[in-house]
Amino acid sequence: MDREASVRAYYQELMASWGPQDWWPAYTRFEVIVGAFLTQNTAWTNVERALRRLREHGVLNPDGIRRTPLPKLARMIRSSGYFRQKAQRLKNFVSYLDARYGGSLGRMFTQPTAKLREELLSLNGVGPETADSILLYAGGHPVFVVDAYTRRIFERHGLITTKARYEDLRQLVERALQQALAAAGDPPPASPLPGRRRHKFVIRRATSAARAFDEFHALLVQAAKHHCLKAQAHCPGCPLERFLKK
Ligand code: SF4
Repeated sequence: MDREASVRAYYQELMASWGPQDWWPAYTRFEVIVGAFLTQNTAWTNVERALRRLREHGVLNPDGIRRTPLPKLARMIRSSGYFRQKAQRLKNFVSYLDARYGGSLGRMFTQPTAKLREELLSLNGVGPETADSILLYAGGHPVFVVDAYTRRIFERHGLITTKARYEDLRQLVERALQQALAAAGDPPPASPLPGRRRHKFVIRRATSAARAFDEFHALLVQAAKHHCLKAQAHCPGCPLERFLKK
């Protein structure tokens, strides 16, 4: 089986085993964006505490970030680590949103994917994973988010080496899943948009590809958290066990 066929098989197996996931856990697009910044180099539980504080203070929105003094904002997100740096990055993002799009996320997300990705990547502290999380989960743009979990699973299955570049891995998954969708006639998803049960916002531009990338990323996170732990792989019971090379 070539690498793209393997990726497709993993996606189909995980989907058959666990079904659609409820991702990204957020109530607004802006909350997704803030979460994407705060989750850099820290566990999600720490991010949740910081998001809760921002929500309690009524500043989990562009205007809240805009009007909150930097030191106060940093204190509110202390639990997420690197809090001064992250507070500045949130301020920078809102400044960019104001300068380019008059403070409108709607206008920002109507930009073509490649253009918007380039803009986001040019912001201080925005790497590919953060940019792609914003594009996919807040904007419904069809990009796959590569994270440490994806790398760990693919490495353990011999699909990539430790030196694999982010872009190569992203394109590998995107090609593989787009082919699967094309072969299936690009059907509408069998379930509601991921996260719609919990999300209060609707990703209007989500395509079948965006939904497949969304689901696959969330399913890989599940596999990594429950079976493919950093310290050790617990393969028995993992849906991907049958794909391990003997
Ligand atoms: S736990 Fe084992 S079977 Fe599951 S993804 Fe990791 S290496 Fe593969």
